[in-house]
Amino acid sequence: MMNHAIPSHRRPLRYAIIGGGMSGLLAGIKLKERGEDDFTIFEKAEAIGGTWRDNRYPGVACDTSAHSYTFSFAPNPDWSSYFAPGGEIRQYFERLVSRYGIAPHLRLNTQVTACDWREDHWRVTTADGSSLDVDVVIAASGVLHHPNIPEIPGLDTFSGARFHSAQWDDGEPMEKRRIGVIGNGSTGVQLVSALAGTAAHLVHFQRTPQWIMPCTNRKFTEAEKQEFRTDPAKLEAARNDPAAVARRARFTAAIIDAQSPELLEIQEEAERNLDQSVRDPALRELLRPDYRAACKRLVFSEDYYQVVQQPNVTLAMGGIERIEPSGVRMADGTFHELDVIVLATGFKTNQFIRPTQVKGVDGRLLDDAWAPNPTAYYAVCVSGFPNFFMLNGPTGPVGNFSLTDIAERQWGYIDQLIDELRAGHCVAISPSPEAHAEYDRQREEASRETVFASGCKSWYLDAAGVPQIWPWSYAHFIEVMREPCLDDFVLRRSLTPA
Ligand code: NAP
Repeated sequence: MMNHAIPSHRRPLRYAIIGGGMSGLLAGIKLKERGEDDFTIFEKAEAIGGTWRDNRYPGVACDTSAHSYTFSFAPNPDWSSYFAPGGEIRQYFERLVSRYGIAPHLRLNTQVTACDWREDHWRVTTADGSSLDVDVVIAASGVLHHPNIPEIPGLDTFSGARFHSAQWDDGEPMEKRRIGVIGNGSTGVQLVSALAGTAAHLVHFQRTPQWIMPCTNRKFTEAEKQEFRTDPAKLEAARNDPAAVARRARFTAAIIDAQSPELLEIQEEAERNLDQSVRDPALRELLRPDYRAACKRLVFSEDYYQVVQQPNVTLAMGGIERIEPSGVRMADGTFHELDVIVLATGFKTNQFIRPTQVKGVDGRLLDDAWAPNPTAYYAVCVSGFPNFFMLNGPTGPVGNFSLTDIAERQWGYIDQLIDELRAGHCVAISPSPEAHAEYDRQREEASRETVFASGCKSWYLDAAGVPQIWPWSYAHFIEVMREPCLDDFVLRRSLTPA
């Protein structure tokens, strides 16, 4: 329950928001809505958009329904298709910047290098050496943000073009080239589907097969878009599409219980997709994973299995021995000559706000608090780091959910904690060490029951194999985000110790 019994005097707050991606913009818009203007959004790149700015590889799209991957307060009647292409999503966020007057708050090309807690406020330092004192830091720096460049021997010796999927080289022609795509997560699969049509030859390097779920990405007609523009109820219904809500409920029931009938259903659907789509039995077995569906993030594709059966596509399964100047040598000795190598090898997902150096109470480093794994109480705040809140931070629901919805719900929770500061009930608020530790204990216990822990490797797992993402239902997430339990928090009333 929120504490309204404490005497209060309202005080204006100063905010630093770190990251100009989806969730950083959300924080700015929400502060504006409240009439709070003293905030700066620090963005290290030259433009806003986060993931949707960095990932502009051919075929990039969001495999969550476009209408549910929008903010509840800013529905978009103009999505071109059920799954929106990445460029359209970036433009959606750019429109919000002008619609909500966020531009004057943006400091682009400005990397935050340090955040130091100074008893009752944060000093935020940027790479140009300047600093800003604020009351609240919102870390909205993303999860899938630091490209994972694999340590494959000889990678640097390749004489053709090579780049990570999130660092696309727009100047590099792809048509009629011999392309190798390393990695078959959601990115690799989208890339292969998009590039195979025009490549001279495409080799898809797969270390571990993936379960692929079927899906249909239908275009919205002009008549439908017109209806969405003129009928807000229709647009809202598309946002809360009952079929998508039911799929989410089935998915969440499946992932939190590896023995559930819902998981069996997903498993059967993925197996059926493989069995019905791939004609050649040898190829089919090559593509069959030996772990449960949804153990890794589920990949959705309309056409991947059809694409890999095209004559100009080769599947290279198993280990890569090394990369040589003209191509890739496999562990079995096979050699693939290539002009371009795309590394769809994922991200370093335990970085979050780092390498920014964050020092909390008594100079404690976030790096130390996060050893061996990044953690946050209910995924939003960290014991010993007052007035420091995270959107899409460690241990939250990620993967196949709509991250816009998650960020909005997290903001609703954070906003209530900030209310304690706004009201003057305290100058510093953070979860107690006991509450944070208990959250982690319960989370780890629950995570062992999830499908993520059922026997595969994925970016959801820490080095010890423990899933580092939300292990409970989505309904539980919605429930706990409704209102913080203030008993779990340490509120420092003033600078003078009591
Ligand atoms: P990912 O799921 O982490 O997949 C990385 C791929 O690279 C895996 O196939 C992995 O193989 C392979 N790999 C890594 N290191 C390798 C090495 N040294 N040698 C050979 N292969 C190597 O990365 P991602 O596909 O970029 O996706 C990351 C996340 O981004 C997704 O899980 C999803 O949350 C998000 N995403 C979402 C969408 C969407 O439509 N909403 C689209 C793209 C991405 P192993 O499996 O053997 O490790």
